[in-house]
Amino acid sequence: MGELKQSWVTVDSSSDFSIYNIPFGVVNHNNSKKVASRIGDFAVDLSVLFSAGLLNNLGFIASDFEADKLNPMMKKGKSGTRKLRNKIQELLSDETNKAEVEKSLISISNISMEMPIEIGDYTDFYSSIEHATNVGTMFRDPDNALLPNWKYIPVGYHGRSSSIILSGQEIHRPKGQQKPKDDEPPVFGPCKLLDFELEMGFVTYDGKPLGDSISTAEADDYIFGMVLFNDWSARDIQKWEYVPLGPFLAKNFASSMSAWIVTLDALEPFRVAGPKQDPAVFPYLEYSGNKNIDIHLEVQIQPEGDEASTVCNSNYKHMYWNQSQQLAHHTVNGCDIHAGDLYASGTISGPTKESFGSMLELSWKGSRPVPLKNGVERKFIQDHDTVIMKGYCEKNGKRVGFGEVSTKVLPSK
Ligand code: CA
Repeated sequence: MGELKQSWVTVDSSSDFSIYNIPFGVVNHNNSKKVASRIGDFAVDLSVLFSAGLLNNLGFIASDFEADKLNPMMKKGKSGTRKLRNKIQELLSDETNKAEVEKSLISISNISMEMPIEIGDYTDFYSSIEHATNVGTMFRDPDNALLPNWKYIPVGYHGRSSSIILSGQEIHRPKGQQKPKDDEPPVFGPCKLLDFELEMGFVTYDGKPLGDSISTAEADDYIFGMVLFNDWSARDIQKWEYVPLGPFLAKNFASSMSAWIVTLDALEPFRVAGPKQDPAVFPYLEYSGNKNIDIHLEVQIQPEGDEASTVCNSNYKHMYWNQSQQLAHHTVNGCDIHAGDLYASGTISGPTKESFGSMLELSWKGSRPVPLKNGVERKFIQDHDTVIMKGYCEKNGKRVGFGEVSTKVLPSK
């Protein structure tokens, strides 16, 4: 990576989309959807590069890039997409084919983003010890905040993929049953305690056949890349419904993701050690090397007609369970995975009050209003608020980021 030349495309030093990134997405240009990458303020139309013969001998065919989703491309596995990304980096830094490559560049002001993957299955983990401890402290026992299984199992549940939406799409406040008072019957109506959850998601390639497992050592070979993820949560609906089978309608009305998938290869330089795990984990969850990633994360709330205020600064490096452990655990029983499956991390809270990744924690169950700019405050998310999450890695002047996931909340239908 150190030998990589700068791109001949001008890229601002604050851009998330440097030559070190080269993410993948699907863009809409003149009502035509294309598989694309991105450099600075330009999308790179890969179908144009392929037609010009610049992506030959990498194992791809024209339809992989004329598709409206990345799934056909992802079927080529890590070796395929790695060769492709390396080639795009070369084409954007080496000037040999500059005149041809320039024809593939489209200003981002002339495109809109599309959902990049056909999401198959969706799983949500619960892997931040700070988040799990905060929730346990609020709702159970401050002296015994973590449930007995938490340090043994990367706890997760199967969610719903149909309601995963792209950044920019608005949502309506969900309705449902709630039980606001312990000694009174439940009520039905719009959710009053609407919340975000700051998460990252990873997307897999095709895995192994049903019955086989993926080890922690193999896990990276099955992970394509990552996105920012907002796991919208209706806290009042959740509290009433979750016993005994877990989250249901409090979660499946919407989850929002960012549009560009940043590859695991691009994130490799930003690996850091994870926290010490005590008690020792089962052998199938042991791993070697640095498996956490130093990703700066920020959450903003923007009330309608007002400025955006930052309410949270966290970091993905805090996660207790890493992705390799999550994937090894997910498949240890023989569960199969497929290209386009999505796995969210769980709320990413850090150790300080400013780094808590949900309003539930930031407002401590609504007991401490969170100040925004201009005298405004919030305990939970109100109608017409926009929640914006951003994330980036930066090291030695090299920046790789995710852009943002932004979602506006409209009143209940
Ligand atoms: Ca979640």
